[in-house]
Amino acid sequence: MKIITIDLEEWYHQLGYPSENKYENSRHLEKRIHLSLDYILETLDEHNIKTCFFTVAQIAQQQPKLIKKIITNGHRLGLHGLYHYHPEKIKRKQLTENIRTAKNIIEDTSGTKIIANRNPGFIMNPDLLWIMDILLDLKIRIDCSICTAKTSHGGWYKYPVRKAHLIKTKHGNIKEFPLNNCFFNSIANTGGGYFRLLPLKLLKHLSKKPNYLMSYFHPRDFDQRLPIYSNFSILRNFRMQYGLQGNRKKLQDWVKYVKPIGLMEANEQIDWSKQVSISTDSLIKKTTTK
Ligand SMILES: [Zn+2]
Repeated sequence: MKIITIDLEEWYHQLGYPSENKYENSRHLEKRIHLSLDYILETLDEHNIKTCFFTVAQIAQQQPKLIKKIITNGHRLGLHGLYHYHPEKIKRKQLTENIRTAKNIIEDTSGTKIIANRNPGFIMNPDLLWIMDILLDLKIRIDCSICTAKTSHGGWYKYPVRKAHLIKTKHGNIKEFPLNNCFFNSIANTGGGYFRLLPLKLLKHLSKKPNYLMSYFHPRDFDQRLPIYSNFSILRNFRMQYGLQGNRKKLQDWVKYVKPIGLMEANEQIDWSKQVSISTDSLIKKTTTK
């Protein structure tokens, strides 16, 4: 099972960019999603894929037409934070409030129910598992936040399950679709910067091999005039720009070869009664991000 998902965020929704934690005031920043969205929608449509767009609620607030377009094309929406803040840099009470507010904004704008959650930066660890209870309370039963590779934001590389499974909390079960890893836990395949940086041949090989694959893409991955990030190092800016020019064609070739499905179809195909189930208590006891 290979799954493709989209994280709907602006070019400046980057952890570590100066406006991080000041996104409330980002109205003056240039909006660029619309430059890549049609390409993404057309590519998914060509392959008859309907999937989940994990949406930063601020996008729904500021660019509601984009949300309507995604819904009109048959896709569903997930949460990707209120402003794409690093979840560990916000106090628990505020983060809880942000999740609730984000859900309300996206549902009111789209006229549809949120189906899943993905934390910004795939940041999930034992200290953040309480978020699962908030999701259940909001009737969100799918989470795609766990990254089983080491990343610049952490990653939960000792996480014991590397395919779709259930996380058991005191308040019910969450269906978890984690992000894959490869190369001795060192990178997440496939999506975002890794997709731009790695050669297509290798990506095809890495994508074909596992039985389960979760992939993710952002509009900025296909923005051929992506702005330079003022406070990023030359190396990080180089990484942000690398491969952008050929990335649209690369995705089309990859989709044709891998034939990924959308998140909703994956959810329907899985017999959840036969999947591994792991409790939050045992995850807290047995694993650590360090
Ligand atoms: Zn994101």
